[in-house]
Amino acid sequence: MRRFQLLLFCLALAVSAPAAHAQDRLNVVASFSILGDLAGNVGGDRVSVTTLVGPNGDVHVYTPAPADAQKVANARLLIINGLGLEGWLPRLLQASGSKAPIITATKGVAPLENGSDTDPHAWQSVVNAKTYVANISDALIAADPADAQVFRANAQAYLTKLDALDREVRAAVARIPQNRRKVISTHNAFGYFAAAYGIEFIAPEGVSTESEPSARDIGRIIGQIKSSKIPAVFLENISDPRLMRRISAETGAKIGGTLYSDSLTAENGEAPTYIDMVRHNIKTLTSALAD
Ligand code: ZN
Repeated sequence: MRRFQLLLFCLALAVSAPAAHAQDRLNVVASFSILGDLAGNVGGDRVSVTTLVGPNGDVHVYTPAPADAQKVANARLLIINGLGLEGWLPRLLQASGSKAPIITATKGVAPLENGSDTDPHAWQSVVNAKTYVANISDALIAADPADAQVFRANAQAYLTKLDALDREVRAAVARIPQNRRKVISTHNAFGYFAAAYGIEFIAPEGVSTESEPSARDIGRIIGQIKSSKIPAVFLENISDPRLMRRISAETGAKIGGTLYSDSLTAENGEAPTYIDMVRHNIKTLTSALAD
């Protein structure tokens, strides 16, 4: 009888353990989809990740909803990009009353300046993404030391994938003829990609999507496409395609496809994860530029 009770007790433990585990998950809020994916890769099943700006959303011009204040209030850790990307964050933090620690994923990245603006799109270099992962891993370990080993192992496995991805991008760029490594994108989101991999990007809009390009900006781009014989222009998932279509029509530069700069897609889209995004972009660029 006693043995039977012990067995029941063990069974009850076994059944209740996964439920208790799920409740223990560290509640992490990431400001936008790319950070959410990186955090999910490091945190694995020990975290529950929520993003504020979701798939195909534009983080530059985001307006937080009341539900976002609730998400932030419930967070045990908040992950942001920094470098001026989340201009809407201070007010949201105030509204939420959150006291959760905030980790800036770009800590340690050398920022690029674009005129008087700091370029926030550091994730477009896979080498920088490795810094993001290291920062996220440190922050998760600080917030949940009991799961440190899991976080370290997950981060290591993911960093290995990022190393392979970085090599893949370099090999793909090497196949594009030198004189064709120049493209037009809608906003200036690929400065770090350009610096890391050697494809030049020119954009009518600046490092934010906040302000519309002027007629002069557009005229300047059209002139550059014609004089430098730039082969292709690219659309973005977060921007209105009409401007690029017009530039394409006026210059004869072909539309090379859609690049994902600041946002992932939903699960069924072309870029549901960071690695998918980088792979999609390099595939799109090479097929448009490699003659
Ligand atoms: Zn952007």
